[in-house]
Amino acid sequence: MRTSRIKRTKTVCTYCGVGCSFEVWTKGRKILKIEPQAEAPVNSISTCVKGKFGWDFVNSEERLTHPLIRKGDRFVEATWDEALDLIASKLGEIKQKYGPDSIGVIASSKCSNEENYIAQKFARAVIGTNNVDNCSRYCQSPATAGLMRTVGIGGDAGTIHDIASAGLVIVVGANPAESHPVLATRVKRAHKLRDQKLIVFDLRRHELGERADLYIHPTPGTDLIWMSAVTKYIIDQGWHDQAFLRDRVNGWEEYVASLERYTLDYAAERTGIAREQLIQIAAMIHEADGTCILWAMGVTQHMGGTDTSTAIANLLLVTGNFGRPNAGAYPLRGHNNVQGACDFGTMPAWMPGYEAVQDEKVRAKYERAWGVKLPEQPGLNNHQMVEAITKGKLKAMYLFGEEMALVDSNSNHVEHSFEQLEFFVVQDLFFTRTAQYADVVLPAAPSLEKDGTFTNTERRVQRFYQALQPLGDSKPDWEILQLVANRMGAAWNYRHPSELMAEAASLAPIFAGVTYERLEGWQSLLWPVAADGSDTPLLYKERFAFPDGKARLFPVEWTQPFHPGEEYDLHLNNGRLLEHFHEGNMTYRSEGLTHKVPREWLEVSTELAKERGLESGSLVRLTSPYGHVKVRVEVTDTVQGKELYLTMNTRDPEAAINRLTSSYHDKITHTPNYKEMSVKMEVL
Ligand code: SF4
Repeated sequence: MRTSRIKRTKTVCTYCGVGCSFEVWTKGRKILKIEPQAEAPVNSISTCVKGKFGWDFVNSEERLTHPLIRKGDRFVEATWDEALDLIASKLGEIKQKYGPDSIGVIASSKCSNEENYIAQKFARAVIGTNNVDNCSRYCQSPATAGLMRTVGIGGDAGTIHDIASAGLVIVVGANPAESHPVLATRVKRAHKLRDQKLIVFDLRRHELGERADLYIHPTPGTDLIWMSAVTKYIIDQGWHDQAFLRDRVNGWEEYVASLERYTLDYAAERTGIAREQLIQIAAMIHEADGTCILWAMGVTQHMGGTDTSTAIANLLLVTGNFGRPNAGAYPLRGHNNVQGACDFGTMPAWMPGYEAVQDEKVRAKYERAWGVKLPEQPGLNNHQMVEAITKGKLKAMYLFGEEMALVDSNSNHVEHSFEQLEFFVVQDLFFTRTAQYADVVLPAAPSLEKDGTFTNTERRVQRFYQALQPLGDSKPDWEILQLVANRMGAAWNYRHPSELMAEAASLAPIFAGVTYERLEGWQSLLWPVAADGSDTPLLYKERFAFPDGKARLFPVEWTQPFHPGEEYDLHLNNGRLLEHFHEGNMTYRSEGLTHKVPREWLEVSTELAKERGLESGSLVRLTSPYGHVKVRVEVTDTVQGKELYLTMNTRDPEAAINRLTSSYHDKITHTPNYKEMSVKMEVL
């Protein structure tokens, strides 16, 4: 009898956007251990608990191993030929009958760059639509839009090393100690050992808030106001970087005029932040040798999310904190490959490398390369696709690697819309909540079972290698998409993801020099990458990404957060847990993590608990105009007064935060306003 040998394979973490890499030790299908190495460019010998213990899902008995086809109310196993024939004929019929824009493709920020590249090519070149999007729509699209308005590139200005080396780090609406743990460790170390200054703005006094030089609790939804007031105060004091503004930035006069109303008194009244603290923040930025601002969903998931992200960039421009080391804007990407999914074109208005679909020259380039005529107008985003289904305009959807039934806002409405689709394909590792609405379910393979690249929050592209064979009849997502495309008339012959990367690099200038050879082993590249392979750890050193090379100050106004009415008297915030990832489809199937944290909970302040007679473990029902959930209470000082916090990672669809959220969204990007939620609470 043959015994399998121990194999060591370099991989990149499948969870957050920090992009830790390490070796996975396997014997047969058994995962023996995760071993970080000093060569890893981001994390060296560190990982967090998810990177170390979050891999059991790969061998879960609940993995999909065969295609499934719906027969009435049940699903039956099918061969790949049967499933592919059905998909090709149904999508073909729908395209013929209603036109290509009656079909939508939802791609995945859990999948590789190459898989997102082939997904957008499938949507555009085979279906003939720009209706393609990924889950950045639910999180960081407003940050990307705010940066594109002001500095021209929707990525982090520098690297995690720059963050760790800055004089001052400001964290706004983010909880890196749980959501980006290895990055948070770098900040904690710099704060302790190098006396790096740290300011944290958050509704919860979380771990970094506890450690900060200044922890500030603003009134929910008022970040744009304090940022604008601090910027105005800096200008009024003459602390702005005049040479930088003169030489490298447009729009000064109009911008300064737009700040008129943001006085310290106005800001103090609206934000609840004392005047003296606003002055202290301005002085700390003025005195710092380089300021980095880090932000996440506490900023973006609001109706004014793009405008607040823009205000962050404005503040950094006014103080000359772009284009130099140890400074700049750092939207913290959530999923491991949300940056890459966007970079490689699974967005309705952008081809790979952020070239506009409306640009005739760009379309002509792709039309020559792909031998097709491309759609000219931007397509529908995730949010618009749901609305288009309910209006009868979107008839079919192809979705992979996205638990949309739980993670999109107003999930009762989303699930109702799925029931109205004429045809729905879901491709995933597991039979997800979303898959219940599908007509065909296809079994996909996770990162340990395939080759590819991921791009982390720093724009760093890294290789991961196949450690295991795909389980059962499952296949890598790129292979499945190629099979479907070829059944629908394409003649693609990609034999390995490196060929997809080579094609993307030949077409998208920001990837010109990206090759698998240059990414071998622990090597990595930060885009833009020139044809000679030189990459760009620090953006904007010479010029900003606009035709004249100058940045643009962009005036913005505050948007009043949504409130459903007086009877909903408690503000409900939400966010991640250290031990779990997103909807939990992977981490709740990883024994070590589930053993440690088996379920979600609701944080209630000590004051509110006393007032309502609650203790830790009490069961309550939360109700919003859109639905209700039942959850267990945890009484804590992390939250204040009438503010609640529900952990978003749950395996119980009836406790999922999005039973409560609305369909209101950011004005520019349609990112749901997940953080603008009020509820009423009953004790059960
Ligand atoms: Fe994975 Fe993020 Fe943890 Fe690193 S910090 S091990 S990338 S989850």
